[in-house]
Amino acid sequence: MPQHSPFKIEIPAKDILSYLFPENKESSDQPIWIDAAEPDRSLSPKQLLQWSKRLGVGLQKLGMHEGDVVMTFATNHIFVPVAYLGVSASGCIFSGCNPAYSVSEIVYQVENTGAKVILVDPALLGSALPAIDKARFPRDKVFLFNDVECQTTQGIRDWRSMIGSPDEAKHWTWRAINGDACATTTAVINYSSGTTGLPKGVMISHQNVIANIEQSIYMRDLEQDYTPKTKPTERWLGFLPLYHAYGQLWSIGAACKLLTPCFFMRTFSFSSFLCHIQTHRITHIQTAPPVLVMLAKRPETVSYDISSLVNILCGAAPLSAELQNEVSTKCNVQVVQTWGMTELTCSMLHVPGGLDDRSGSVGHIDPNASVKLISDDGREVGVGERGEVLVKGPNVCLGYWRNAQATRELFDDDGYMRTGDVAVRNERGWYWIVDRKKELIKVKGFQVAPAELEALLLEHPDVADAAVCALQLDHEELPRGYLVLQENVKGRMTEEDIHTWLNQRVAKHKRLLGGIQFINEVPKSPSGKIQRKVLKEWAAKDAHDF
Ligand code: AMP
Repeated sequence: MPQHSPFKIEIPAKDILSYLFPENKESSDQPIWIDAAEPDRSLSPKQLLQWSKRLGVGLQKLGMHEGDVVMTFATNHIFVPVAYLGVSASGCIFSGCNPAYSVSEIVYQVENTGAKVILVDPALLGSALPAIDKARFPRDKVFLFNDVECQTTQGIRDWRSMIGSPDEAKHWTWRAINGDACATTTAVINYSSGTTGLPKGVMISHQNVIANIEQSIYMRDLEQDYTPKTKPTERWLGFLPLYHAYGQLWSIGAACKLLTPCFFMRTFSFSSFLCHIQTHRITHIQTAPPVLVMLAKRPETVSYDISSLVNILCGAAPLSAELQNEVSTKCNVQVVQTWGMTELTCSMLHVPGGLDDRSGSVGHIDPNASVKLISDDGREVGVGERGEVLVKGPNVCLGYWRNAQATRELFDDDGYMRTGDVAVRNERGWYWIVDRKKELIKVKGFQVAPAELEALLLEHPDVADAAVCALQLDHEELPRGYLVLQENVKGRMTEEDIHTWLNQRVAKHKRLLGGIQFINEVPKSPSGKIQRKVLKEWAAKDAHDF
């Protein structure tokens, strides 16, 4: 029998803006999105709403229709939430692109989304412009997108020249979405390779976003010793990337819903991270295991006063109980885990926020959701047995953008979504993620799809065949390549040559930092599929000598 969450909540059937700004009421004018390095730069919910409406008006005037995609290509800054909500206000779909992407990776997302407008951080024009030209994207639909106004550059205007005036925004409101349409209207497309293949656009509905904000807030307030009245003031540090589900959920959605100040870091460096915690007396962070490794191991941790920190929410990759304990003790802070996926809007399992768990568990099922664990031979397994996690709930995505086949394969016959993660649960309904059976590699919390790297490596004229898998080290995973060279270059071609070629074509986190090994043959099944189990065994052996 599937396990159903013991918790039930009401999920408003609205569009995201109507949910965050009920009845279009102007909200608080306390700063909520604050630039951590220059705190004079900030936006209150009231300002956010005004700017979002101005962008909504502008996009409509530009001829954008409902369901058109607007892509942002930007590092975190306080106006990214404006893009997220303004795009939604115009009836369009938001899609964020990783600012570290190479030209070909940007082109892939531009073409795959079919974006009609692109908002570009001026600091990223170096990679954006060649991509825009390569994708034959019209420059008059590209706008510079920064937190300060920019001069027109190479025919590209500032986004402020396209948006509606404050007066127009005042007399305009977005078309509200109600009822069933909230569950079927896509609001966001985030990218994920899912359980197999290339990165795909994950269609996240308005209801998905609202449900997952409500579920996550419910779980973090569970078992707390405060009441709404005695709840202590919180301050968050917003360094999770806003093109990813995790950053969108907390730094935009939950921050707006809870009116919690969130200090944005444009880019992450460990010393500035510690410095901002000290300066802004940060109480809560949402993060991934690599940051916990730094907190535990790096000497700088003790050079800063981070005693304001009370809670770290950790997700996006496996976290051992050992590291969880080390950080809890060293920093005198509670570390609670969450598990999720881009396909689940963000998360689906949480340790209740008020519990000081030290067991490495990813917690309970979120409200209104269900989980079943399925063994390799297709049996539903119970307490203590390992099984692939299959899930159902209001936060489960609509499927993959323009990819009906991948969408069909995502769900089983009962409508449960396959996750490719393997877990066990105990008799109290707590889950532990124990393995991953899908192809995905997680590097510092970021996705690396083996199929994408394999396809790229095969474009190298001297590579005859390629397979990529994760090299599992103590607290991290690194992509490792097993390559078959063309006969005529064997003995001449070096690993270094391949690294140099590949590194020019991929974002940093996709580099083969787990090494390259030349082999005679990629292990394949009779049908030609790469035998990933064999690769996993090879990589486990190779990890010893790494
Ligand atoms: P993403 O779609 O980028 O959020 O990546 C989702 C994947 O990250 C999951 O399917 C897991 O493989 C992994 N993941 C996320 N959270 C956890 C966690 N708490 N423990 C282990 N793996 C996790």
